[in-house]
Amino acid sequence: MAQIALKEIAHSYIANPKDESDYALKRIHSEWEDGGAYALLGPSGCGKTTLLNVISGLLTPSQGRVFYDGNDVTGLPPEKRNIAQVFQFPVLYDTMSVFNNLAFPLRNRGIQESEVKKRVLEVAEILELTPFLKKRAAGLTADAKQKISLGRGLVRSDVAAILFDEPLTVIDPHLKWHLRRKLKEVHDQLKLTLIYVTHDQVEALTFADQVMVMYEGELVQSGTPQELYESPQHKFVGFFIGSPGMNFLTCTLEGNTARVDGAGIMLDDEVAALGQKAQGKLELGIRPMFLEVHAQSVEGSIPARVKAVADQGSFKILTIDLAGHTLRARLTEGQAVPQNEAWLRFPTRWTKLFAGGRLVSK
Ligand code: ADP
Ligand code: MG
Repeated sequence: MAQIALKEIAHSYIANPKDESDYALKRIHSEWEDGGAYALLGPSGCGKTTLLNVISGLLTPSQGRVFYDGNDVTGLPPEKRNIAQVFQFPVLYDTMSVFNNLAFPLRNRGIQESEVKKRVLEVAEILELTPFLKKRAAGLTADAKQKISLGRGLVRSDVAAILFDEPLTVIDPHLKWHLRRKLKEVHDQLKLTLIYVTHDQVEALTFADQVMVMYEGELVQSGTPQELYESPQHKFVGFFIGSPGMNFLTCTLEGNTARVDGAGIMLDDEVAALGQKAQGKLELGIRPMFLEVHAQSVEGSIPARVKAVADQGSFKILTIDLAGHTLRARLTEGQAVPQNEAWLRFPTRWTKLFAGGRLVSK
């Protein structure tokens, strides 16, 4: 296993890139610890596959260097980097049996047949492929084929890292959950460096210890699921993570108060002072979970209007109008549901300020 470092990586698919928009990856600088379980999370087209291919060596970046355990591997092809990569769609030898498909990466490296058999049986057991080992891959369902692909990624014990590129896309929803748990178990047992690409926040948050969020060719934040939820460093993280995502209100500053049309919302003094000097459009952000909703006026509350209530089972999501802006609030179980009128409180700790999309922080 290896520690992977990306230094000042940028990549453009265009021969003569002119400006930032010509780059699929912009200024990627990050480290992936040995043995870590990472998710690379972002919407379609943000550069996840490009980044994964730079890590594996399928792609040489236009700029920057890639290091494995401190050694520069930028010029090395995937075979020399000792990486296993599982693609979005299964890549298999259709005419071979499931056993031989799983054995292929090992036999290819000249591993002894007794060891091959041992590893294949172990991996087949984990992925519940044992009953199919003698069958030809061609006749199997898409699910089973992708499990074989996963197995081929997991079968070698000597790899520097295993990269998964949205591997569960073709898998049936109920199996997805099960396989994700399996991968997590495999990680916990074998302590492999795993990088798991997905556009699905639930998948990322349940799988990984550390989630790297990508947006328009940049890694905008890396953190534990809790850090991403509680302290989004970028507007995109606030919006993308959580359901519904963070509320944003365009504002101006007057001392330590954020003005949102008619409404005034108190901010942390230091944050407000930093906001005065910050560049770009100012926005206040608060998660629906942290927005306090009261049925009567309480100290420091701001009047608003309830537009809709959606029952989500154990909790309710309120849609609220505040000075012509729409906000969402999540009510805790058993909390009184205000009708028509509501009073909002923005706890200072959870009321964030963003300038040009980035968090203003102390
Ligand atoms: P993701 O995996 O997050 O969906 P990709 O890394 O596939 O994103 O793509 C990032 C950007 O690079 C997109 O704008 C995509 O159109 C572009 N791109 C990806 N692969 C190629 C390629 N082989 N040639 C040209 N442009 C590409
Ligand atoms: Mg992709």
